[in-house]
Amino acid sequence: MDSLIGLVNRIQRACTVLGDHGGDSALPTLWEALPSVAVVGGQSSGKSSVLESIVGRDFLPRGSGIVTRRPLVLQLHKTEDGVQEHAEFLHLPRKRFTDFSKVRVEIEEETDRLTGKSKQISHVPIHLSIYSPNVVNLTLIDLPGLTKVAIEGQPESIVQEIENMIYSYIEKPNCLILAITPANQDIATSDAIKVARQVDPTGERTFGVLTKLDLMDKGTNALDVLEDRSYRLRNPWVGVVNRSQADINRNIDMLAARQRECEFFATSPDYSHLASKMGSEYLARLLSKHLESVIRAQIPGIASLITRSIDELEAEMAHLGRPVAVDVGAQLYTILELCRAFERVFKEHLDGGRPGGNRIHIVFDYQLPAALRKLPLDRHLSLQNVKRVISEADGYQPHLIAPEQGYRRLLESSVNYFKGPAQASVDAVHFILKELVRKSIGETEELRRFPTLQAEIAAASNEALERFRQDSKKTTLRMVEMESSYLTVEFFRKLPQEVEKGGNPTSQSADRYSDGHFQRIGSNVLSYIGMVSETLRNTIPKAVVHCQVRESKRTLLDHFYVQLGKKEGRQLAQLLDEDYTLTERRKLCAKRLQLYRSARNEIDAVCWSG
Ligand code: GDP
Ligand code: MG
Repeated sequence: MDSLIGLVNRIQRACTVLGDHGGDSALPTLWEALPSVAVVGGQSSGKSSVLESIVGRDFLPRGSGIVTRRPLVLQLHKTEDGVQEHAEFLHLPRKRFTDFSKVRVEIEEETDRLTGKSKQISHVPIHLSIYSPNVVNLTLIDLPGLTKVAIEGQPESIVQEIENMIYSYIEKPNCLILAITPANQDIATSDAIKVARQVDPTGERTFGVLTKLDLMDKGTNALDVLEDRSYRLRNPWVGVVNRSQADINRNIDMLAARQRECEFFATSPDYSHLASKMGSEYLARLLSKHLESVIRAQIPGIASLITRSIDELEAEMAHLGRPVAVDVGAQLYTILELCRAFERVFKEHLDGGRPGGNRIHIVFDYQLPAALRKLPLDRHLSLQNVKRVISEADGYQPHLIAPEQGYRRLLESSVNYFKGPAQASVDAVHFILKELVRKSIGETEELRRFPTLQAEIAAASNEALERFRQDSKKTTLRMVEMESSYLTVEFFRKLPQEVEKGGNPTSQSADRYSDGHFQRIGSNVLSYIGMVSETLRNTIPKAVVHCQVRESKRTLLDHFYVQLGKKEGRQLAQLLDEDYTLTERRKLCAKRLQLYRSARNEIDAVCWSG
């Protein structure tokens, strides 16, 4: 049994060290699942006195008003005989208190450290361990007393705040409630019982304690309550007699007080028949036994809660990613890894693992051919325009056989029309690539936590894409220009030659200037341009893919890498500037995970040792 309560004690301490007070965070909390004993009751009902007499030591602050303003988690550790009795605070590790009056002073000061002298309350507990051969292993929680009105200097809300804090402890299904009621007041108005009923209607985990039996009016007694006739609880009521204020002032020591308490019950005409089931010592044993059975019943539940929470936290940690490295080499490595991850996603978009790359071939298969078809070449090669261009090219001397100059001009001006669709293809692909970069950054899981690096990668990629676009534009335009700078002579040689048409030069000359002549020229040019169009329809995509798509797959971040190599540690750290809330969340999760892992080890150890 000692090992079980010891286990709970260790887990409770770990909870406080790691900031798990239950309730106040979105993380799973172990604190809430642990069994404990909380003391509740009205102010001056004798809570601190009961705690002290269970411990057998005089160490709690007292006074009128709200003395206890932070929860006090009091862990009693039974030691071997001969070990010096001492106390330790969790917030003062390795400092042993052997003078218990100094413990009281420290509790007061530690309370004020958090709440100020303002009489405010705080839900952050003070942890105090007492090591003594004279105690049973037990964890007790002293809470501020229930009050009806705020005193000078306190906000009105304090009444409600105290009640809420008390509820937050006793609400836990595995908290035993020590409900303290003074016997010299009307028990029907007991705040302690009222509050306990709220959270434990069946009374299974409530222990009624009647204090101040010695102060009852002469001729009255509390037998109706103690013998379960008036306020029946599942567990038996226990009556105690603590030291009066006069005893305290006279420094009556604890052991003497206990002795007197025993005598009180043994010799009382009213209570002597109940003597073996009364008093502080009996109460301590009763609690310890009950706690043991509670813990035994709770262990499997706690163990599975721990396992579940570890799984959850590990999943979240994996999602949050590793903490950012601190040394320059590791930072550079991390950045490169993140960039590679982004490049991988980007390539997948282009190569077909992810959607989006197909939009490029839509440009080539539909948009480009449609744009080529829509070119106003018919209008450009209309009879009227052909006539105009040819006569302008001829100048003062009309052409003799074929209008060589006119052909050239018509061809060149027609080919020029292809510049539009060529540029449009370059731009269309550029915007698709840009969009894919944006999407890829969003889809790179590892990058999610680094907004600065995201922005830098986006900027570097867009800059590279812009360079590719310029290069691609130059290349495609050059291809168009190449089509007009050297014509395929073959094509015209294969056309039927007009000179061979008739033997008569006069009729030839008449024919030369007829509409049919110009129409033929127009249609010759048109069919040559058709051939050029067919060629460009095939070669523009090749140029675009070569200059933009292939290049972005191979060298998108090359410039960025070069710049990265020149950066100093501070600049690298800036790139890895992760969202502050993520850093905090990771720290919190890591701490909580550490708690659960050590709790699991503790539980394993206890379970295996039987
Ligand atoms: P708390 O405010 O509930 O913690 O109450 P305390 O334990 O500080 O007790 C308030 C006052 O009642 C102190 O002066 C105690 O000495 C006195 N007191 C508590 N219990 C008893 C008791 O059983 N008998 C007598 N005579 N006085 C008691
Ligand atoms: Mg008190």
